[in-house]
Amino acid sequence: MAIDFQGRVAIVTGAGAGLGRSHALLLAERGAKVVVNDLGGGVDGTGGSSKAADLVVAEIKARGGEAVANHDSVSDVASAANIVKTAMDAFGRVDILVNNAGILRDKSFGKMEIADFDTVVDVHFLGSAYVTKAAWPIMQQQQYGRIVMTSSNSGLYGNFGQANYAGAKMAVVGLMNSLKQEGAKYGILVNTIAPVAATRMTEALLSPELLPHLKPEYVSQAVAYLCSEACGATGDIISAGAGFYAKMQVMESQGMFFGIDAKVTVEDFAANYAKITDMSKPQHFGSSMEEVAHIAKPFIK
Ligand code: NAD
Repeated sequence: MAIDFQGRVAIVTGAGAGLGRSHALLLAERGAKVVVNDLGGGVDGTGGSSKAADLVVAEIKARGGEAVANHDSVSDVASAANIVKTAMDAFGRVDILVNNAGILRDKSFGKMEIADFDTVVDVHFLGSAYVTKAAWPIMQQQQYGRIVMTSSNSGLYGNFGQANYAGAKMAVVGLMNSLKQEGAKYGILVNTIAPVAATRMTEALLSPELLPHLKPEYVSQAVAYLCSEACGATGDIISAGAGFYAKMQVMESQGMFFGIDAKVTVEDFAANYAKITDMSKPQHFGSSMEEVAHIAKPFIK
């Protein structure tokens, strides 16, 4: 089945470089009209230039696609709304939103300034929330939307020196988990990508032998599918990089029920810790209410 985006309008944030550029090129190649957003700053988020987004727009047009540039920051409510306005003004709708813009302010936690925390959370988490918030009523009204968040194995599994980034990257998973429920009845599907790719963000972090095999294009294939009409999934987290793709999920052990109103002591908990945390039969819940229903089972006659 061929996947195309004829008649669809996509916004890709941070599309002036790296993964975002690759996502934008692929969506445009498959027929989407694309808003290429990028403020054109450094990896740490400082500075700015219209060049990054403009060059990608020129690249898309040179290949016969349709695109417009936007140079606003995702991390401010008004400018995030302006990204969506750019799409509405140029193309009259928004079907696809890829929240990709990102920065790094790596330092061990002891040395990390609070400002480094705020800035990273502002771009990754609040930026994703702000642009999504502006696109949401449009998608609700048209009863169609595809949103992709960009997380990271740094958040999902942890990484030294990235407490700010890891926290922000898990926060977008929480955002997705709620929005997948709220968007369902409007045909809005929300998924998350956890990429690994050779970009300016990772060139100093990953081993040089690996870098040539980590083409951003290998991630964009998964993003494009999650943005397509063909995709029926919502709430999925897809790990993608180097031609490897997998689903990631929060899992819970079978746990241990001590009995209704059991007087569990700290010592009881300690004595059973291995059983409580035994992950040999993991289970997943589709929502917090599903987990509560599971906990409540012994109480329901
Ligand atoms: P990149 O630095 O090449 O691209 C990020 C782009 O976002 C840049 O062009 C930058 O100018 C733009 N940007 C930054 N702040 C912005 C803002 N406030 N508003 C608008 N644009 C802004 O890095 P990349 O590797 O392509 O990263 C893309 C996304 O993928 C990021 O969210 C990143 O955290 C995530 N990610 C990347 C990897 C990887 O291996 N490259 C791994 C995990 C997650």
